[in-house]
Parts: sequence; structure tokens; C-alpha cells
Amino acid sequence: MDKQITPPNQPERKGPDKLGGTAAARRRLLEDLLLSIKLASQEERIALIIELAGRDELTLAERRQVLIATQRYLVNARTELPREIAGLLWAILRLANRQDLRRKALELFRTAMEAMPRTEVVPQLKEPLLELVKQLLPRGTDAEFSPELFQRASRRLLNNDNSESVIHLISLGLFFFPFNGPLREMRAEANLDCGRTNSAMSDFEELVEQFPERLNFRLARAEAAIRLGEYEEAMGDLEVYLKHNPDDPEGLRKKGECLFHQGRHFESLSVLNELLKLEGDSAELFVNRARVNEQLEFLDDAQQDAERALELDKGNQEARQLRQSIMFRRQSYGMEDDLYSAFVRGDEELFLGELKIPETRFADIGGLNQIKQSIRETIEYPLKFPEVSERYGKTAGGGLLFFGPPGCGKTMLARAAAGECGVTLVNVNLAHVLDKWVGNSEKAVSMVFAAARKRAPSILFFDEVDAIGGNRANLQTGWEKKLISQLLIELDGLTSINENVMVLAATNTPWEVDFALRRPGRLGRLVFVPPPDAGARAEILKLYLEKKPFIEDGIDYAAFGAKLEHYSPDAIRQVVENAAAIPWREAIETGAARPIGAVDIAVSIEQTPPDLTEWEKVVKRYEEFAKQSNKQVGIGFKKPAGSEGPINPS
Ligand code: ADP
Repeated sequence: MDKQITPPNQPERKGPDKLGGTAAARRRLLEDLLLSIKLASQEERIALIIELAGRDELTLAERRQVLIATQRYLVNARTELPREIAGLLWAILRLANRQDLRRKALELFRTAMEAMPRTEVVPQLKEPLLELVKQLLPRGTDAEFSPELFQRASRRLLNNDNSESVIHLISLGLFFFPFNGPLREMRAEANLDCGRTNSAMSDFEELVEQFPERLNFRLARAEAAIRLGEYEEAMGDLEVYLKHNPDDPEGLRKKGECLFHQGRHFESLSVLNELLKLEGDSAELFVNRARVNEQLEFLDDAQQDAERALELDKGNQEARQLRQSIMFRRQSYGMEDDLYSAFVRGDEELFLGELKIPETRFADIGGLNQIKQSIRETIEYPLKFPEVSERYGKTAGGGLLFFGPPGCGKTMLARAAAGECGVTLVNVNLAHVLDKWVGNSEKAVSMVFAAARKRAPSILFFDEVDAIGGNRANLQTGWEKKLISQLLIELDGLTSINENVMVLAATNTPWEVDFALRRPGRLGRLVFVPPPDAGARAEILKLYLEKKPFIEDGIDYAAFGAKLEHYSPDAIRQVVENAAAIPWREAIETGAARPIGAVDIAVSIEQTPPDLTEWEKVVKRYEEFAKQSNKQVGIGFKKPAGSEGPINPS
């Protein structure tokens, strides 16, 4: 025991003689004192603690008992502490005279430190703390009060595999040297080791902020985030890390894990493939890949992977269990699902329908000039010039939701956007996906996104997104909810890693689109695609008519444009088809050919009823909808100044 320890302001202590003469009597008195500690008031208790700390006769158990009383005192003390703290700290030091009590002492020092105002603690704590740290190091260690001293002592404690007390010790060190990186790193790791992930997280956060250039801290923070189930955050760090170390197995492993937990199984699969290429065969990787394949229902592959893992590591229990459960599922499924195998073969068209670069151009669309220009800026340029756009912060981020009456060009705009960019359009009708993939729709959604990524740069277009309506929330079935949540996961995934996949969607009834889908960053930018005004109608009529090789000169398009009120572009196209049929029939019947003329158009208009009469009533509702979602309305919705009148973006 260190005889030189003497409390500075030690209160007057009763001498051993006052405790009584014989050893037996002294022991009895000591035991009385120990007993009275429990019943004492706060003030009495501190006096008793200091008193007892001066006794050499205490047994180990008794020392521990007094230390615990000290802890109770500290926890209750708060404001009274500063006055008494010096005496108390010395008492703790004296009581903790043995290796196994020093852990308790560290904890108590930390409790004292945390219970007190900083200004009070610093001067009081330093000297006894130095004493305590010295005791943790081999005798004769040059003991200057420095971060290095704490580092050395912590390392020694760590060797004894004692994370808890290491955390106390480092916290004490950090109290004096809050910006010491190595100390904080040690604490973060010790916290992680003993499962205090939240504390580890806040240390890593501090470290990343303090040393933004140290990428390892990001990797470590990602690990903490993964343990907390915060995969989105982890992915953020991993992206930065992998940007500089693209082939780092550790980073890739974590990325694969995040993707798996986010339900992004295809991406997870490709990361695992990459890792297997980098690292060669590894049982662990095969087990992970088996798991991903199982999720994707690629049961053949999953089973093969589990078997490979077992070949490499016969005792691998995880692989064994996995193989068993996969085999069981294969048996109970019986037949393989045609659509899945189609996807594996690369015949995505089988379930996606369209999957190509469209021929449509903006020139094929009449009117909607402002929308076309906005699409150039929000879609075409970022897709075509990703680097330049990134530099100016003009990256994709969030998709467009076209809304408006049917037949007015929403789908056409999506086609033309892809056509103008020269990228693949992945055209998905969610209602069909739901039909075809009953019970498995969320997997289908993953595949759709995977197909779009595979062809990036690409445009993913969801027609009739209202098919999974949010306003009918109470009617939503389990699989609809699953589908929506998968859709959200995928959409959020796209924007965060900017994979050059742009998302567009269309609906006639925007108010029925699930609200979660319309959040910024998802399908947050609303674009009203209105019925054409007279000018646009004239333009559209001309567009379709001029596709016919044999037409009369001098047709008054403007007059027809005015006449075609309540006709959608689709109906106008029909008018032209019907008009062309008139001279064609005549030519076949009589053998005399004449060009398509104004009369034919007039007759055709008479025979083709307008299709938007009903929809005009809904325009009000569109307006209201746009007003409500005001801040989110992106492009193409502009009212003439000072009027509540019809919307005319052309
Ligand atoms: P929506 O998706 O809005 O229901 P579509 O874009 O599918 O409508 O349009 C249906 C058809 O109508 C298109 O194939 C095209 O022939 C024609 N059409 C629609 N809008 C226009 C337009 N603005 N200009 C030319 N043709 C159009």
C-alpha cells in the first residue's frame, strides 16, 4: 500500500488509540463504523468514508464495501461535491490499494468527474488521477500527465481484457485531452467491443469530424452504423471510403451487408461476386452469397453456394443449416418459377415488356414546350453529362411524376425523354407487375430496378402508379404495402448512389398515389401535363396529318385547332386516321385518288366524339391538387399571371 498517499485537506481524524485498545475492540468499532455508513446522512457518510479509508486493517471485502458506499455517495452528491472532492478522491485511492479494486476506483473517478462542474473538477482531479494511472503502469514509469500516459495505461488494461475499465480510464483521459485522436479511437473501439454501440458511434462521429481525411474512421463509423441497423448512414460512409479504396475487401464486405439488409439483393449479389473475384474462394463469402441468392429465390445458385461453403469448411454450421433450409424450400416449391428463371437467363422482356431505346423525339410531341425544356435540364443533361452536372450540383436526385388527363402525352414524354438521351426505357406497368407476380411483387420491383441499373444510363418509367393507391390506405393489402415499401427502398437507394437511373412516373389521378412515394427525393417533382390548348391542338393535328403522304395544301390548322376543343392529342390522332380513311375508301371503290382535305377533317371531327369533356371537370381538381402540393410542384405548371383560369404550360 502506498504510504505516501495523504489527503491534502484531510479532515481531522480520530487516532487509532481513540478506537480502543485491544485488536478485538478495534475490529468491533470498525465494524460499527462500516454498519453506520449505510444509515448515515450524506454529510456523515463522507466523514465516515474518509475515516475508514485511513484504516489499514480493512479486509478486501470491506474495502469494496466502502468503495460502494462512496459510489452511492457520489451519485447522490452532485452539488455538495466540490468542497469535499479532494478528500474523497484520496480516500478512493487509498481504498483501491489492490489491482482488482482499481477498476472500481476508475469508475468512481469517472462518476465524480461526470457529477461535477468542469471548473471544479479539473484542478482537483488531476493529481490523484495521475497517482492512479501511475499505479496501473509498471513501477518506475516516467509519469508525466499527458495523453500518451493515458494511452499506455489503457493499452495495458486492454491486454488484461478489461474493456469496461479501459472505457473509464480513457474517458478520464479525454476529459483532460478531448482532442486526442488515439485516445478517442481506443474508446470507440472498446465501446464497440462491449456492445455500447451508441457510445462508439458518437466517438466515431467526433473522429470523422475531427479528422475528415482519415478514411478508416469512416469505415469504423459504418461498422457502428451497421450494428445499429442504420444502413443508409453506413452506406454514406462506405461510398466515401470505397471511392478511395474501391477494391478494399473490408469496405466491400460491409457494403454487401448493408445492401442485403436494405433489401437491395441484386446489388448485394454483385458486390459479393466482386469480393469472390478479389479474395478467391472463401466459405464465409459463399455463405453470404447463398443467403442473397436465397432471398432472390435463385434456389439453385443458393444451394450450390452453400455446398461450396461446406466443401471449403466442413464444420461450417451456418452453411449446413442454410443448405438444409434451401433444399427444403426447393422441395416444397416443386416447380421452378418460370419468371424467375427468365430473369436469370436475361430475358427480362418476358416480364418487363418493353426494354429498349425508344425512337420517339420531342419533335413528335405537339405543344408542351416548357415541359420539354425542363426535361432537358432535369433529365437529359444530367444523364448525358453526369460529371459536368455533378460539378454544378445538377444531378438527378428524385424523379418526376407526370399527372394529367389520359391521352395527353405523359407516356410519350417519358419515351421522348429516353429517345432524346439515347438511353433505354424500362417501361413498367405496376398493375401488371402486381397481376403477374401475385405474392412476390416486391421481388419483382427489385428485379425491375436491377434491370434498369444493368442498362444504366436508363430511364425507369412507372405507368399508372396510382395502381398502388395510398388514399385507399385502409384497403391496402399486405402485398401492396410490401410492394410500396420495396419501391421506397429502391427509390431511396437510387438517389443516394446516383446510379444514372432516372425515374419517371405517370398517373391520371395523382391524389391516389401513395403519399410516401410523392416525398421529395422520390417522385417528389410533380409535373402537370395539361390538355392541349387551341394552338397545341393545331400543332398536333398538323403533326399527324403531315405524316400522311398525300394531303391538300392550305389547310387552316388554326381554325381546326379552335374547333377541336375537348379533344386529347390521342383523339386528334384518331381524327386524322378517320379523315384519311375517307379518300382512301373512295380511291379503292372508284380508283380515283385525291388528297386528304379539309372536308375530310371536318367530317371526321363530326364522327369522332371528343374524349376530354368529362376530364375538363377534373381540371379543377388537378389545380387544387397542385395548390396543395404547391412547394413540390416542379415544372410545367404555370398559371397565366393574375388569373385563376385554365392552366397552360405550352
Ligand atoms: P398518357 O400517357 O398521358 O395517357 P400517351 O402519352 O400514352 O398519354 O398518349 C397516347 C397517344 O396520344 C400517344 O401514343 C400519341 O400518339 C398521342 N399523343 C399524346 N400526346 C401527344 C402530344 N402532345 N403530341 C402528339 N401526340 C400525342
